[in-house]
Formats: sequence, C-alpha cells, structure tokens
Amino acid sequence: MDRGPILTAPFEWTELEQNDQGYSFPEVAEKLNLYPTFFDRNEAAPDSTDDLIHITINQKEYQVKKDITIMQACEQNGIKIPHLCHESDLTPDANCRLCLVKVKGEQELAPACGTTVKDGIEITTEDDELNHNRKILLELQMASHEHNCLTCHKGNPCIAGSCELQELIREFDIKESRYEQNKEKHPIDNTSPVLSYDPNKCILCGRCVRACREIACQNNLGFINRGADTLVAAGANKDFDQSACVTCLACIFACPTGAMTEKIAHYEGEDWEEKLIFQS
Ligand code: SF4
Ligand code: SF4
Repeated sequence: MDRGPILTAPFEWTELEQNDQGYSFPEVAEKLNLYPTFFDRNEAAPDSTDDLIHITINQKEYQVKKDITIMQACEQNGIKIPHLCHESDLTPDANCRLCLVKVKGEQELAPACGTTVKDGIEITTEDDELNHNRKILLELQMASHEHNCLTCHKGNPCIAGSCELQELIREFDIKESRYEQNKEKHPIDNTSPVLSYDPNKCILCGRCVRACREIACQNNLGFINRGADTLVAAGANKDFDQSACVTCLACIFACPTGAMTEKIAHYEGEDWEEKLIFQS
C-alpha cells in the first residue's frame, strides 16, 4: 500500500506522540477512526453479488458495485476519462468539466466523477463531440495559465507526479490555444518554509482546497474573489506563513499543476534523471 506523505508534527488532538519517523496518513486516519476503509480500498472484502449491477460502457458490458460513480466504474475497468479536478481520495467537485460523458436517454452530459451508476445505464466516454469539447476546455485552461514549462518545478522528480494539464494537452495533440492568453501576473508566495504557491499556474481545480479540508483537516485554503479574478488563497488571503498552515504538504500532493510545489525540491533534479536512476 502506498503510505503517502508522512506527518512529522502530529497535532495534540491526534493523541499521537512525537517520534523521529513521523506518522503516515493511514496511521493518523486509523488512530482517529477517519474513513475506516479510506486507505485500504484494495484490501476490502469482496462484494456480495447483491451489491453488483450491470452497466454498459462504450458498448461493452461490465458488472460493477452499485453506488459508485461512473469515474470509479471506469477506473476499475481500465477505462480512462480525462479529468483535472477529480482526485480519487477527495470529494468530487465536477468543476473542470473534462470528464463529461454521454448517458443514453439523458439530454445533458453527465460529469463522470459526480454521477452514480445505475443498473442498465449505458455510457459513452469518448467520441468526436466529447473530445471536441475537451479540446476547447483544455485550450481555455492553457489560455488562463502561464506555460513556462522549461522552468516549471512540476517536472522535478522530487515532486509527486508530473503536470496533469501538460499530459492532457499532449494527449489531445494541442499545439496552441485559439484563445488569447491571460498575461496578468500574480506574486508567488514563498513565505512557507515548505511550499511555494504560484497562482499563475493555478487552474482553480480546487484539489488543494479539498485536500486541506478533507485530508489535513485544516480548512486553511479557499477561493477568494469572483469570476476571472478568482484565486486560491491561504487563511482568507494571508501569506502562507501567517495562515493556519501546518506544513503537512497534502495540498502539494493534490495539485495537478506546478502551482503548489514542495520548496525543498526546487532545482534539485529533472524528470529524465529520475528515469535514469530507476533504469540503472
Ligand atoms: S500544507 Fe498547509 S495549506 Fe497545504 S494542506 Fe497542509 S495545512 Fe493546508
Ligand atoms: S493550486 Fe493546484 S490544486 Fe489548488 S486549485 Fe490551483 S491547480 Fe488546483
């Protein structure tokens, strides 16, 4: 099991004693009886056949557990649906609209991350129309986002994953955005001892906000302003070092772009170096 990030400074209310090794999130969750099966989904007992339903995805039939989302049903069966705001450990928010799919008989497209499967449901996850919509959404994200990929820290192997936005842009073979790029620059917040927040690279997916609330139990992050001026901010628009941030890094692991990154890892390596190490 991937034990995820380590908490080195457990809070008093966890009743965990300080130790040199720290505690993984599953250990903290177990101690606090949070999400009893949250971290052990793969080790859960097999489902009773009463809990299983039949669905069709892209004209192929599957048997899946009832009460899961279309996204979960697809992930369990190796069917990839593009997404940016969805993260399997967080509450769905359906704000990026990339995971919209067609459900037979429904007039509106359905967000796969926030729609529960029903017995007999027929889903189309990919066709020319859906992919056309997704390209437009990605181009809009490109136009709202500073693409300084050569110096973006998200390519750093010490930082979880690579930029999910860049990966999707490559997957959809997008060379440029047809929309005018927003050139407005926001100051980078480097006040935290552990993280750097660059609002210019933020796509407002809200994953960091949900991670801070649902994993770190801090609720230190939120959105400020409205419309095109919307930004993620710590502590209702304070610098990170003046906010209630406990430097747990949950937001960094949730962020799909180079907006929220681990400070200590900056300029310490490149993606190709990580591959070199693992191949040798
Ligand atoms: S590092 Fe700070 S802002 Fe980020 S999730 Fe943890 S408490 Fe929240
Ligand atoms: S900082 Fe990252 S995780 Fe948070 S809203 Fe922006 S892109 Fe999403």
